[in-house]
Amino acid sequence: MPLEILTIPCLSDNYAFLAHDAETGSTALIDAPEAGPILSALSNKGWKLSHVLLTHHHWDHVDALPDILAVHPAKVIGAAADAHRLPPLDQQVAEGDSVIIGNETGQIIDVSGHTVGHIAYHFPDSAAVFTADSLMALGCGRLFEGTAPQMWESLSKLAALPDDTIVYSGHEYTQANGRFAETIEPENADLQARILDIAAARAENRPTVPSSLALERATNPFLRAAEPAVQRNVGMQGAKPQDVFAEVRARKDRF
Ligand SMILES: [Zn+2]
Repeated sequence: MPLEILTIPCLSDNYAFLAHDAETGSTALIDAPEAGPILSALSNKGWKLSHVLLTHHHWDHVDALPDILAVHPAKVIGAAADAHRLPPLDQQVAEGDSVIIGNETGQIIDVSGHTVGHIAYHFPDSAAVFTADSLMALGCGRLFEGTAPQMWESLSKLAALPDDTIVYSGHEYTQANGRFAETIEPENADLQARILDIAAARAENRPTVPSSLALERATNPFLRAAEPAVQRNVGMQGAKPQDVFAEVRARKDRF
């Protein structure tokens, strides 16, 4: 049975997620932005936390960890590369390692770029990937530490996951991302349709996260740097995708 996954809005625009294996009762929290909503979700469901999976060191992904662990002592997992700046870890992981949540195995993918040491957790049996601030709904994280080629490589690894993979990313930035995406590929009909869906969801205060990888590949300008239409629109026909990605990312930073 696939993991039951809850999306938990935190702070002004963050998301945390709970992934629950009904058979064993194991429950993993992915990132810890704010204790209140996460503890409420656990108690509403009657779930006990067994694991915390950290994606990267930014405060809005880790700061609530002590308050959560005080109520739910759980095994904390994070990147070995970031162990020096994450809260204390019970298990340090790197690309190629696995984590076990109940009957499910998650694969660690290094998605450095937003930070160096950022990891994603892919649960193939549940068709879920937790990407935080790497691949985001219609966007990608700003390059605070890594380089554009590094982020392009990270996004390419995520883009290679199966079509039906659901992408659980870390922030509700999708509507603003859509306004930018339109400037890169205004003629993309899938993008236009998605922008309308996003507006409808936000008008009702519904999250636009998670999204499907198939939809991201069809509409997310940061995954489409190899597409002729995108290359033409930014004046870089035939350029290397990583260079087109760098241009798109730079335009977003100025947008
Ligand atoms: Zn971040």
